[in-house]
Amino acid sequence: MEKSVQYADMLKQKDLKSTPQRMAMLGIMEAKGHADIDEIYQEIKKDFVSISLATVYKNINTLLDAGIIEEIKVPQKKSKFEIVKHKHSHFVCEKCGEVYDVQKPKKLDIELPEGFEPREASVMIVGVCKKCR
Ligand SMILES: [Zn+2]
Ligand SMILES: [Zn+2]
Repeated sequence: MEKSVQYADMLKQKDLKSTPQRMAMLGIMEAKGHADIDEIYQEIKKDFVSISLATVYKNINTLLDAGIIEEIKVPQKKSKFEIVKHKHSHFVCEKCGEVYDVQKPKKLDIELPEGFEPREASVMIVGVCKKCR
């Protein structure tokens, strides 16, 4: 399926209008995999010269609320955003700040206090990526 059709569908399912700005933002996140607000802003300005950072933030928040994208909190750096896809974990390079998708751990070896029932665990691995080693 054509990507733009997919985005339009995703937005429609959440009762959101497929504005050209939203479509462009989803396209940028798709292309980059993970992008922070500045990267999205710099990229979208190429097509929407007069777009403001506030508009980008507003749309990011709308897409977050709708569950179409998710936020990845990167230690000491700006959060990155990505389109929600299959469950995965993240590896963050502490040198270049790049975020990589990695497999979710198959098993979590953590003792929980009695009576706690885990539903999901989110794991972020911090280290140095291959490019930076
Ligand atoms: Zn790196
Ligand atoms: Zn990811």
